Amino acid sequence: MKILLATANSGKVKELEEMLTGMDITVLSLSDFSDFPEIEETGKTFAENAYLKARKAVEITGLVSLADDSGLEVDVLNGDPGVFSARYAGEPKSDERNIDKLLEQMEGVSESQRNARFRCSLAVVAPDGREFLTEGTVEGRIILARSGSGGFGYDPVFYLSELDKTMAELSMGEKNKISHRAIAFSKGVPIIKRLIEGAIRTERRG
Ligand code: IMP
Repeated sequence: MKILLATANSGKVKELEEMLTGMDITVLSLSDFSDFPEIEETGKTFAENAYLKARKAVEITGLVSLADDSGLEVDVLNGDPGVFSARYAGEPKSDERNIDKLLEQMEGVSESQRNARFRCSLAVVAPDGREFLTEGTVEGRIILARSGSGGFGYDPVFYLSELDKTMAELSMGEKNKISHRAIAFSKGVPIIKRLIEGAIRTERRG
């Protein structure tokens, strides 16, 4: 049975495939569809954007489709950069400039006020119209200067107090165990299983 993860990011596809190991499910991505149209992320929340992408993917392919949207929320910035995380410092998108802007915006903010979280919303949409949403968050703090060279995005300034490391100081394996995306995806797995098992039963009956 084929499902579609509406992303061109092969890392995300690999993460989901690993969680579905042992099941007869092939995870396709946007790279498998040469003429897939650009989907504008016009939502005001991660959930809205995830739904936008997953619904479009079902409409075009007829497959059970998943889409995620994620980003950083900083409390003292009223949840910014939020859905604008990728392009916080404008076009063309740049992780380096985004971090520079974030640190600038937070100049003078005390340690106790620097709480932040990564949030990921995952939408799962079936061709029969059923829709599901899962969420994952990871809490941390924005530190004053970059540390670590792993990961991407805001990882070098996102500090996890329980691990005493920034997200960029974790190995990929460590990050994939605790990340907002890993949490949202792992909550999506039982939903995918139910949808696929239901589709197989319908196919056999039909
Ligand atoms: P996307 O929805 O996964 O494409 O993420 C949008 C943006 O949020 C990225 O370009 C990053 O700036 C930020 N972001 C999302 N996930 C992470 C993460 O795990 N680490 C650091 N930044 C992230």
